[in-house]
Amino acid sequence: MKICLESYAKVNLFLEVLGERTDGYHEIETVMQSVSIRDRIDMEEKEEGIEVVAEGAGVPSGEENLAHRAATLLRREAGVRAGCSIRIRKGIPAAAGLGGGSGDAAAVLAGLHRLWRLDWPRERLAALGATIGSDVPFFLWGGAALCTGRGEIVEPLPSLSQRHRFLIVTPPFQVSTRFIYNELNRYALTRPKVWSKVKCVHGLGSDPECMLHRLWNRLEEVAFSARPSLREWADRMERLGCSRVLLSGSGPTLFGLLPRGERDEIGILSRFPDSRHASIAHPTTTGYRFMR
Ligand code: ATP
Repeated sequence: MKICLESYAKVNLFLEVLGERTDGYHEIETVMQSVSIRDRIDMEEKEEGIEVVAEGAGVPSGEENLAHRAATLLRREAGVRAGCSIRIRKGIPAAAGLGGGSGDAAAVLAGLHRLWRLDWPRERLAALGATIGSDVPFFLWGGAALCTGRGEIVEPLPSLSQRHRFLIVTPPFQVSTRFIYNELNRYALTRPKVWSKVKCVHGLGSDPECMLHRLWNRLEEVAFSARPSLREWADRMERLGCSRVLLSGSGPTLFGLLPRGERDEIGILSRFPDSRHASIAHPTTTGYRFMR
């Protein structure tokens, strides 16, 4: 049997860091939304072993791929004998703040759950996914969700309308997640928290549409001072009509909402030939999708 899926990317509409934990992780509060930038994943049963081949810049094949970890863990936990081969064609830029690796891991868990005819509740898959990466559980739901703890505690929210259009641009440089969090520990964690804002919005009707007017990411100030050219990229996007441009995760990807009725998508994308990736994406209601 063969299974084919698309796994989607995410953007963070809101991200506050509440503090550092004793286990080295940070306690965060974030609202994530899945978006239509996608990887394609093909899976096929084979007699034994897990094989992962990934096509895309900066993405390892084999055991280092998060999809491999997901498959190995599920196989062991579910006591499955059969193996499977997994082919990933990346459309989501790697190490970009778009959660591509976590999304692939979640899609592989969901795909193998079907391939191996398991009957696990989603919560059990999510608990397994959380051992692979903090964002994996989110992608098992997708749409919009408030994610707390180190990001692995998922509270689904109504998804943004699929009519919205985000301009999503990944500049051609890396921003190290570890560096950003270390810098944050140095000074920003002492600043007043805005987490009450999201709690407030959440309490006021759980509507991520309201959050579009309050986009906020605690990591942005640190990332912009580490990489001042991010400001120029954001300015370019704002000049094209994005009302507010925000860093996704620890970056370097930036995203902004395009005005309704904007039709010149090709013209807009042609303004970023020097980027690593530029696309116009819409919100999705799931983190992955089975294809026929
Ligand atoms: P986050 O926002 O969750 O920090 P990210 O979008 O910044 O994630 P990923 O795309 O998930 O980062 O990739 C992080 C690293 O994980 C990459 O540098 C890559 O080497 C490794 N990796 C392992 N498996 C995958 C995969 N399937 N897709 C992308 N990267 C992968």
